[in-house]
Amino acid sequence: MVPIIVSACLLGVKCKHDGTENFCPEVMEKVKSYPGVIPVCPEQLGGLPTPRVPAEISGGDGHDVWDKAARVYSRNGLEVTPSFIKGAEETLRIAGMFKAGGAVLKSGSPSCGCGWIRDGSFRGKHVEGDGVATALLKKHGIKVCHEEETRLIDSFFSQQR
Ligand code: SF4
Repeated sequence: MVPIIVSACLLGVKCKHDGTENFCPEVMEKVKSYPGVIPVCPEQLGGLPTPRVPAEISGGDGHDVWDKAARVYSRNGLEVTPSFIKGAEETLRIAGMFKAGGAVLKSGSPSCGCGWIRDGSFRGKHVEGDGVATALLKKHGIKVCHEEETRLIDSFFSQQR
């Protein structure tokens, strides 16, 4: 058994950009029976307020942000890349502190997105890719799934890294 990181909004924490949550009963049901559940909100950990202006990655995905080929902008045009980087690094630091072996993160988010994110146009279009925090966790060998892949959670817990 290893601890697991979970997007705090999936557990009902009101950390979403509009001050609400993304409570997911399936994730809660799955993880509550396990020890070592660590709720994180990378955007809050990066120092952004709640509520906050929504942001999207422009020019690629989270991996491209780490390669300095893409940046994160809020809908009002302000660059918020440094906050997203700080939040991802803090998330990784927390994962290291508790030796987390997996993460269940919120799909679509520019921080937590896993497999798909929004395309940077603020028009609701989706593109393949990962958010900034997800990309960093993956780079460090932490397995990430999103809330619709809760069947994968057991395998995270059954393996040591
Ligand atoms: Fe949820 Fe992640 Fe967005 Fe925070 S950054 S509100 S945890 S999706």
